[in-house]
Amino acid sequence: MPTVETTGGPVDVEQLGLTLIHEHFRAADEAGRLQFPHLYDEQAEWDAAIADANAVAGHGVKTVVEPSAMLLTRDAAFSKRVADESGLNVVLATGIYTYDYLPQVLSNRDEDGIAAIFVHEVEHGIQGTPIKPAFIKCAADAPGVTPNIEKVHRAVARASNATGKPIMAHSHPSSATGLEQMRIFSEEGVDPAKVQIAHTGDTDDLDYIERLLETGCWIGMDRYGLDLFLPTEPRNATVLALLEKGHADRMFLSQDYCSSIDWFPREVQEYLKANEVPKWSMTFLFEEVIPELKERGMTDEQLDQMMVDNPKRWLTA
Ligand SMILES: [Zn+2]
Repeated sequence: MPTVETTGGPVDVEQLGLTLIHEHFRAADEAGRLQFPHLYDEQAEWDAAIADANAVAGHGVKTVVEPSAMLLTRDAAFSKRVADESGLNVVLATGIYTYDYLPQVLSNRDEDGIAAIFVHEVEHGIQGTPIKPAFIKCAADAPGVTPNIEKVHRAVARASNATGKPIMAHSHPSSATGLEQMRIFSEEGVDPAKVQIAHTGDTDDLDYIERLLETGCWIGMDRYGLDLFLPTEPRNATVLALLEKGHADRMFLSQDYCSSIDWFPREVQEYLKANEVPKWSMTFLFEEVIPELKERGMTDEQLDQMMVDNPKRWLTA
């Protein structure tokens, strides 16, 4: 029986159950945390993370895939504690989360040198722990596929080819990065069935999404509640249209929620929470989105496909 690496070690794929494919129990810059600790409240971060973990477990979630990578405070020990205290499986990544910038430790290595770092983690574990990554993460955003981003994508592709691990690529649909990302993976010989283009649900451009699907990748409809990228109604209409066209077997539903995040000063975060993303949470899908999608025709089988079967298939692709 195939297994998937989690913070508790390899788990039989049939044990993954209802899965949120893209959530963060903490999102922060590790350099900021190390250098300016007065900006961070570790206890509040823990309280928020465990509250969210328990809340999703209360909705029947068994597994949370946490694609935090370098530059987003990936912390295997913290994620393991969340998993151990909530009873969830938490699935971690190797990789780097950047839209262009590379620290010297990576900018002075070539594609193969960066790939070797990711392969080391797959073989030996994350941050000196025995916890292994189940997939490899990279990102392209508004700056597009810059030379640094292309280098990271080729490194991720080579690490995937060397280890067989699937890839999650954060994308920016309004600059159509998904197609460029898939072009690079294809040039590197990656099986498209291993690749998930995250944040595809930030657009309601069905033509773009279908061109992306034609490459053979998975798509993340994974930012429910982030209205500043796309409000819930067009997200739902897009998911329903794709279900209608028979694409339940290529999609994931999630929220890209961050139990805590250091990207903005506290007062700006409070403003955004109140005005820009009032519904964003780790349980919004269960409280509002899924009931509405069901009312508008999504079947239980389609829901299971997106939140139980597809995560198993992608993670063991
Ligand atoms: Zn994310």
